[in-house]
Amino acid sequence: MSQPVILDGKATAAQIKEELANQVIDIKSKGGKVPHLAAVLVGDDGASRTYVNSKVKSCEKIGFDSSLIQLDSGISEADLLAKVKELNEDDSIDGYIVQVPLPEHIEEQKVTLAIDPKKDVDGFHPENLGRLVLGLPTFVSATPNGILELLKRYNIETEGKHCVVIGRSHIVGTPMSILMGQNKNPGNCTVTLAHSRTKNLKEVAASADILIVAVGRPNFVTAEMVKEGAVVIDVGIHRIEDASKKNGFRLIGDVQYDAVANKCSHITPVPGGVGPMTIASLMQNTLKAIELRK
Ligand code: NAD
Repeated sequence: MSQPVILDGKATAAQIKEELANQVIDIKSKGGKVPHLAAVLVGDDGASRTYVNSKVKSCEKIGFDSSLIQLDSGISEADLLAKVKELNEDDSIDGYIVQVPLPEHIEEQKVTLAIDPKKDVDGFHPENLGRLVLGLPTFVSATPNGILELLKRYNIETEGKHCVVIGRSHIVGTPMSILMGQNKNPGNCTVTLAHSRTKNLKEVAASADILIVAVGRPNFVTAEMVKEGAVVIDVGIHRIEDASKKNGFRLIGDVQYDAVANKCSHITPVPGGVGPMTIASLMQNTLKAIELRK
């Protein structure tokens, strides 16, 4: 098989950000409100801090306003909910995210439910997930939205294809499977949602024309799980030790990249695939939030 097309999320995200930056210039020239994204970070988990910082930095680069709200890991659930209420009522903020995971003493679901759905740019609130299921305008959560954008911008035909999504989390696998089955483009696939209880996962995965992997296990998908010529989207991100790197680690995905790349037609790299698209999608959702609140 010839070399696959690399679905370059880094370059595509850069293009989206440039488009957004131009929209900000346009908004400013008309005296409109510049989009403002706030990010709440509870505690100081290294990975969460990295994600939040890159979201805030991306905002600055494209001319959005941004606020980083850092809270101590010992904050009570009531105080965090009070902060959420404050953000809901703050008219200067168009959208915000509360970075997960939260410390164990805080019930994530309570926080999600407290977020104003019109400011829920992560798209995790049940109202937004419900709208997604019904195909109504909503905030599609950033990772699935980024994957759709990548499929669209690379003109990948999805109609009538068999799409297998592995992993059924509320933020990636489940919404992704719903979106790929909808009567839209990208969409119109015959969808299989595979998960930890799926039998014959190898055979199921190997029957996919489009394989979307969000399992959270490094190198989980091997070449024998991939059909010749399939489109492979790798959502996983894992840090593994690598003494040859300055920072002592490198990033890998849920897919055994080298072996699978020899077989498939298109593949997302890790890093530089789905990750940057997720951030670009969050920015798109923040711009959308202004429209929704008008
Ligand atoms: P999660 O842990 O919430 O869900 C994992 C899913 O995989 C579960 O539904 C489970 O049923 C399934 N699973 C686990 N073991 C399995 C097995 N042996 N066989 C089949 N299915 C199995 O994870 P998540 O939040 O969906 O994230 C998945 C991965 O994607 C993680 O590595 C995460 O870091 C990464 N992620 C990346 C981005 C990004 O922007 N690139 C965004 C979100 C998550």
